[in-house]
Amino acid sequence: MNIHEYQSKAVLKGYGVNVPEGGVAFTVDEAVKQAQALGADVTVIKAQIHAGGRGKAGGVKLARNLDEVRQYAEELLGKVLVTHQTGPEGKKVGRLLIEAGSNIQKEYYLSFAVDRKTARTVMMGSEEGGMEIEKVAAEMPDKIFKEYIDPAIGLAPFQATRMAYKMNFPKETIGKVTKLMMNLYRAFLMKDCSLAEINPLVVTREMDVIALDAKLNFDDSGLFRHPDIVSLRDESEEDPKELRAGASGLSYVNLGGNVACMVNGAGLAMATVDILKHYGGEPANFLDVGGDSTPEKIAEAFQIMLDGGQAKGIFVNIFGGINKCDVIAEGIVGAAKIISQDGKSLPVPVVVRLEGTNVERGRQILKDTPIANVIPAETMEGGAEEIVRLVNQA
Ligand code: GDP
Ligand code: MN
Repeated sequence: MNIHEYQSKAVLKGYGVNVPEGGVAFTVDEAVKQAQALGADVTVIKAQIHAGGRGKAGGVKLARNLDEVRQYAEELLGKVLVTHQTGPEGKKVGRLLIEAGSNIQKEYYLSFAVDRKTARTVMMGSEEGGMEIEKVAAEMPDKIFKEYIDPAIGLAPFQATRMAYKMNFPKETIGKVTKLMMNLYRAFLMKDCSLAEINPLVVTREMDVIALDAKLNFDDSGLFRHPDIVSLRDESEEDPKELRAGASGLSYVNLGGNVACMVNGAGLAMATVDILKHYGGEPANFLDVGGDSTPEKIAEAFQIMLDGGQAKGIFVNIFGGINKCDVIAEGIVGAAKIISQDGKSLPVPVVVRLEGTNVERGRQILKDTPIANVIPAETMEGGAEEIVRLVNQA
């Protein structure tokens, strides 16, 4: 789960991380009031969307007086901001962060993330902050330093100090920087984050060290322990298909392609995405329907996949273990009847591969269905190849 920058800053402030003074505004009047209360020489107005790259896209403004605050707030609220992270459709700005401006001397990059290879938390730092860190990683990878953290010990003070020196912070700020690193790590750990990113972390002309931007991502599996974080959820920022699926107990992740898949079990779902790729297909989604495949649930899954015309074909890949294949086949046929307008065909071809208990009976049910474009497949490979072929010729 993601939250907004202003929310991330409030969480981090609770752990002693130095952030600029400021607050959220939902309207132009609120923005002006916030700025007035701050009374800063320079007020920063920042569009709050769940995406980075706002600076380059015009989503971060510096105002010298309240008239400018009003003008920028009017300009940004309701605007669709397109950044390199939003995709071409952009994201609509519904909230602003109104902040006291900082006298930036230099911008740095600092983050904590989970490293899959070492199965450890890694702290990453660079003195090439502010700009796109992906670009630094690609073009100057030796400019990014890493410290891998032993989970039994946690971030050791010597690691923070070593990182601070490698990042070339001015000597008089090293103490503040290491303290910020320790605090950020504590927040990352205690809140079950999957990412805590400060870009830029700045040193000001007054030699203060401030987190000028903040991005926290949370591990969904840990959210039950953090009702305070769950309450920060902004559903308007989330994929409507993923929200709808969540409400029906389906695990759905949009992958952007055109071959939808409906699978039971996360492992099989991942294998299905892989095999579609292998045959040159572009998976539209990851979808785990779970163990209880009623016709209603399968129909809901079909409708989510078909919504918006993204899917040009559906690959159903189900292993009937606890569920029996004939029950699943009945579910698929029942779902097809619910959503096919004429009772004869579905809007896109559906290839179904079933394996497991009562598989012969299940395949027979699919063969007997009056819905023309439900096509049974004998194997996972054959089914994947078939749906990719059908989608590509459509
Ligand atoms: P992002 O582009 O979405 O990552 O948004 P950031 O919060 O990182 O802001 C982008 C850029 O705006 C930063 O790299 C800074 O250069 C600039 N910026 C943000 N806050 C201030 C500020 O208080 N003073 C000044 N001078 N620049 C700022
Ligand atoms: Mn940033």
